[in-house]
Amino acid sequence: MLQVTQSPQNPVLVQKSFTVLGIASTVYAGQRLSILVDGLYASTGPQVEADGTWQVAFLFQSPGNRRMRFSVGGESTEIVVPVVTTPVLYLNFTQIPARLPALESAAIEGSAVNYADGTQLLLRADGLYELARPVVSGETWRATIGFNQKGIRTIEILSLDGRNRDQRRLEVTDPRPRPPRVGFSDPPQQLKAEQTTTLGGPAADYPDGAQLVLRADQQFELARPTVQNQQWQANTGFRSPGNRLIEIIGSEQDRAQTVIEVVPNTAAFQIQSRSSWTTTVTPSSLPTLFPQRITVHHTALSSAPSSSASADQDEARMRVIWNGHVFGNGWVDIGYHFIIMPSGRVFAARDERKRGAHDVINDGLGVAFDGIYSSATINQRQFEAAVSLCTLLCKRYGITNTVNLVATATADFGTRNLPRILGHRDRVATECPGSPGGATVRLNDIRVAVNNLL
Ligand SMILES: [Zn+2]
Repeated sequence: MLQVTQSPQNPVLVQKSFTVLGIASTVYAGQRLSILVDGLYASTGPQVEADGTWQVAFLFQSPGNRRMRFSVGGESTEIVVPVVTTPVLYLNFTQIPARLPALESAAIEGSAVNYADGTQLLLRADGLYELARPVVSGETWRATIGFNQKGIRTIEILSLDGRNRDQRRLEVTDPRPRPPRVGFSDPPQQLKAEQTTTLGGPAADYPDGAQLVLRADQQFELARPTVQNQQWQANTGFRSPGNRLIEIIGSEQDRAQTVIEVVPNTAAFQIQSRSSWTTTVTPSSLPTLFPQRITVHHTALSSAPSSSASADQDEARMRVIWNGHVFGNGWVDIGYHFIIMPSGRVFAARDERKRGAHDVINDGLGVAFDGIYSSATINQRQFEAAVSLCTLLCKRYGITNTVNLVATATADFGTRNLPRILGHRDRVATECPGSPGGATVRLNDIRVAVNNLL
């Protein structure tokens, strides 16, 4: 047995020493190999070690494909060493996977034979896309690559002057499915509209403080919960009934979904009590009211709370209105009996058992939308609140029809045929509640809807 175990794979330079390693049978231990170059030039080779290994450093004076034949004890083996006069630069891949799942990265390596340290190379895909600019170190280069989409890619390493290159085919496969790291823990399947619930779940491997996004129906952001101890939690609720697709999102690739059915909230319509916003009371000395009708107003005050105002904000607004009526107008109390905020909350104002101060005649209940509705219109929640409130009041005070016209006293001591739910301006010369016919406060829609519920 006589074998070469290592010899130059790449061309070597003339005058430059290279090493050949080999192994021989241990029966030749101590003997010297002979080397015959190109079948012509014989020289004495290295000695076989006790373990059979041998090695020799060699150099050539002239270029060409030089044959080296090693012999010992009648056995021989031959190699060809390409010898060149000028350095041949070339690039190749030594490590690159044949397949790579999308969204994952792979380290790739290659050699840059005879390139100086620090030389910049170009790694690109499909002849177009630059992936990296690896720098040569010790005649090798390395880079990390990754792709977002599956497909066949041609990966190319080339010198910046484009003279040397090598390429490999890489198949980018479908991304490997990864179990989501975010999720829901025991989410409710059903929830009432306007009811608040706490959602939460795992956020495995997320650091404390990482922000997630809780989203509904792929468009509405509900909350941005913060991860704590690899868990997240958020309070949320929904105004309208229907199936909601709820997503907790850590990143494009990490999300979980659940569906919550929001069912109508059948809870009875609620009026926020007077004590919710004030400790004052309506003076008991005021005359008793026997309500004949409902007069609809707007407060005509600017800076009404927004439709998303909190209960606190709405309550503070009630105190603003009270101050205006008491200290501004010099009245004993708010003139109206009820005020409907843009949030849809309905607040008890003046005691409904006492005559109001809202339409000169004051033989009915005064219901006001907070804000100025000369051109703006009430929102759906205000509308629904007005319908619920007026329905409740009509039932409470025996008003059985809100659309038929009945003879009604007006402020000019005359009489007009008007329905039981009417606008301030129907009886008094005023803009209130905003526009002719009460269009901006949907007066006719309210009286028709209420009439249907009576
Ligand atoms: Zn009015």
